[in-house]
Amino acid sequence: MYTRRLVISSLLGLLGSAAFAAPGQAAARKGSVPVPGSKPSVGARPAPKRPPAVVVLDPGHGGRDPGAIGVTGTEEKDVTLSICQSIRQMLGSNPDIRVFMTRDRDAYIPLPSRVAFAHDKGADLFISIHADAAPNRGARGLSAYSRADKASDDFARRLADRENQVDAIYGFDTGATDKQTAAILIDLARRHSHNASLSAKRRIITGVGRRVQLLENPMRQANFAVLRSPAIPSVLIETGFLSNPQDERILRSPKSRAELARFLAEQIAPVAADLREA
Ligand code: ZN
Repeated sequence: MYTRRLVISSLLGLLGSAAFAAPGQAAARKGSVPVPGSKPSVGARPAPKRPPAVVVLDPGHGGRDPGAIGVTGTEEKDVTLSICQSIRQMLGSNPDIRVFMTRDRDAYIPLPSRVAFAHDKGADLFISIHADAAPNRGARGLSAYSRADKASDDFARRLADRENQVDAIYGFDTGATDKQTAAILIDLARRHSHNASLSAKRRIITGVGRRVQLLENPMRQANFAVLRSPAIPSVLIETGFLSNPQDERILRSPKSRAELARFLAEQIAPVAADLREA
């Protein structure tokens, strides 16, 4: 039977965690992924409870990479961090879900390290949160991406290209990691994660779409580096466009951000619960 955590731990074993880890973090990561059922059983125990679903939230950008800058100067890295912190807080009271964040402060985290972090935590679901700029200032609304080699359109392709460049611009070489990753992709895991990502994207958009303004074609795809885990269902959510004055007004207001985070948390919770493994 397919088990995500087993695939993740094999990936880490094959690669050595150094391939995904940020410099200096490799040693700490090695061997730290729990393998279900690896504990020796002692005497009669009550039936094991299902472990909570592990959700990794990824606030886009950070540190020296501000991301998009809004029409009145709002920085994407602050918007994404604030939304993720609110989602974590809202999911915190749910005993069936455990939330981790790739960053909890204004820090620059290379893209492969974000994926490595999710592997390290044995994530059942990876959600990357963004609020980028669009070439057309009129474009507004929330949309969600799953990974695909072929982007939904030119804008999606350029957006992913620009996001993927941040490591080249801000100082992390992804070349070697990409090659090593490509060499060990496991088809079964990849297909499974891909289908789960599509379904998660659809459910989140359908649910959130009842409450917030959506982009015209909200279910999108592009080759984002943070969505490339072959083992973890991954979705990137563009919460809106900082290049649009109305979206920026919403995204810079702590109250509107918290509301948006609540709508997202309400959708993420059932998706994660369905993805968790026994
Ligand atoms: Zn972004």
